[in-house]
Amino acid sequence: MALALHYVEAEEESHRCPVCGGDARECQNPAYQRAYEAAFTRCYRTKVIGNAMKSRENDADSRALVASTRFHPDRVKPNN
Ligand SMILES: [Zn+2]
Repeated sequence: MALALHYVEAEEESHRCPVCGGDARECQNPAYQRAYEAAFTRCYRTKVIGNAMKSRENDADSRALVASTRFHPDRVKPNN
């Protein structure tokens, strides 16, 4: 079973596009050239770290900071 799984993973990896990480048989196929549409989402964890780093721009050791986030369930907007 593990050997079969390894084979499947190796097969998938051999088709992985080094640019986007998707299946190169699709993303590099000229027939699909117009089939893709760009979509954007925002990572709010990265946003809050970026904002926090701006407030530390004058910290001489800011490059040594290890950033992390804490999730506050009580701050989640309703209807999610
Ligand atoms: Zn690609």
